[in-house]
Amino acid sequence: MNKSGNSVFLENFKRMTTPGILQKKIGFSNVALIVNGANSILVDTGVRGGMKKLRILFREAGIAAEDIRLIILTHTHYDHTGNLQKMVKLSGAKVLVHKNEFENLKTGFTPIPDGQGKYSGFITRLGKKVYPSYASPRAFTADLINSGEFDLKEYSIDGKVISTPGHTSGSQSVLLGDQLIAGDTFLNLNNGRIFPPFVNEPRLLLETWEKLFQLKIKTVYPGHGKRFNIEKAYSDYERWKKKLEN
Ligand SMILES: [Zn+2]
Repeated sequence: MNKSGNSVFLENFKRMTTPGILQKKIGFSNVALIVNGANSILVDTGVRGGMKKLRILFREAGIAAEDIRLIILTHTHYDHTGNLQKMVKLSGAKVLVHKNEFENLKTGFTPIPDGQGKYSGFITRLGKKVYPSYASPRAFTADLINSGEFDLKEYSIDGKVISTPGHTSGSQSVLLGDQLIAGDTFLNLNNGRIFPPFVNEPRLLLETWEKLFQLKIKTVYPGHGKRFNIEKAYSDYERWKKKLEN
């Protein structure tokens, strides 16, 4: 049975405690929808097979798929780029990728990132041997390239896409006031960890964190896990800084 428009609105209102951004888990990865009428933006497209959930998200937001004008990819791992082709077909949106990962997306190959722990390190070594394309997206040629910063004013949004390298070299995040849609630059895992277990360049990621700590960010929407206050990342920052100094 269809809900009345009113109750859908009320439900959205309750969920939109941070106005404008709706986060939804598609498979085991998050997407974020910047709800802005006919200038809406989808950040990442989740794990493959998630179209049904994506449609639910648009309905919850009170927008049509065609209202999505831009799809921003925080990076090109498969769990953030699943459903991309279908979403483009459905919405007609343009796709923005960072210049360092344009080729990855175009060729459909992104290397498996390096595991930073004993277990994740083992997974990476094994994966690189038996299934090197495991982390890769399906090949797609992006329409738009971010070569440092990408302003969203064309979409009537006071915000920008910024480079946040580390997890991958072409990782990017969306900064909207004091909110950051971070992709895998920050995670919020069940074990309380914020630093991703798989990182290409851990020292560069910490430098990126330092820069982000300087901005007046409050809320982070991570690539995996629930949104959190950026202060939650401080202890992981200290821990990894010490770890990487040795
Ligand atoms: Zn990733």
